[in-house]
Amino acid sequence: MEKDYCKMFNILDEYLKDKVQDIDLTILEAVSARNNGKSFSFEEHLKGFIYAQLSALVSWKKIKDNQTKFDELFCNFDRSKLKEQSADFLIEEIKKLKCYSPYTTKNQMHALRANIETFEKIEQKFGSLEKFVTHTTPVNIIKLLADSKSTYKLKYSGVALVCEYLRNVGIDVIKPDVHIKRILGAERLSIVKGKSDYAVIAECKELSDEIGINQVKMDYLLWNYCSKGYGEVCTAKPKCEKCVIREYCNKR
Ligand code: SF4
Repeated sequence: MEKDYCKMFNILDEYLKDKVQDIDLTILEAVSARNNGKSFSFEEHLKGFIYAQLSALVSWKKIKDNQTKFDELFCNFDRSKLKEQSADFLIEEIKKLKCYSPYTTKNQMHALRANIETFEKIEQKFGSLEKFVTHTTPVNIIKLLADSKSTYKLKYSGVALVCEYLRNVGIDVIKPDVHIKRILGAERLSIVKGKSDYAVIAECKELSDEIGINQVKMDYLLWNYCSKGYGEVCTAKPKCEKCVIREYCNKR
């Protein structure tokens, strides 16, 4: 018999309501705003991209707690001012806010000016970043921004990071990060058969269309169920004995 995944996501929704305080709704709100006709400005795109970079290896909670300071540090995402901002100054200030990642921050800040120029190149070609992100499917947009051979490749930005940026500006797409790939993979829920990031994105889109739950909502429920400091059930060492969706899982 076919599994009722709509029911599974409803069970997760109910479970997380009681268990997780301070759930972050930024992305769900952005997608809902776009669905209601909102158009995102150049500054909002830049903000979405920079926050996606900052949170790549630093917990989102830490970034969010300092959001007002980050907005100021990044000149409220005014591209002209930001292009003149010294990368070393930005790095030092990020360190003071205790949101520095030794693996990513330095390269990201030194590449910031080049990435803003790539956004400007896109704006010139397509008329606006809005027109660009909506002119074809999300998968094609991700390829244009993340693939190394693309003219519009953003530096230090792979598929997951570009997905996060697009979600910050209200595009409905799943982010294939470690939690999502692990819970959806063959050994657990076995919803996704392919292993590549693009396979995860495509198969989640298919499921979303089938069950009528948008992709960011599916991602939000799964991610919060898995993640440390949030639901913390389906972690690397899963707590299957307390799992509310174990009847859907191969590992139960
Ligand atoms: S049964 Fe275990 S592995 Fe499967 S979804 Fe639940 S916690 Fe994760």
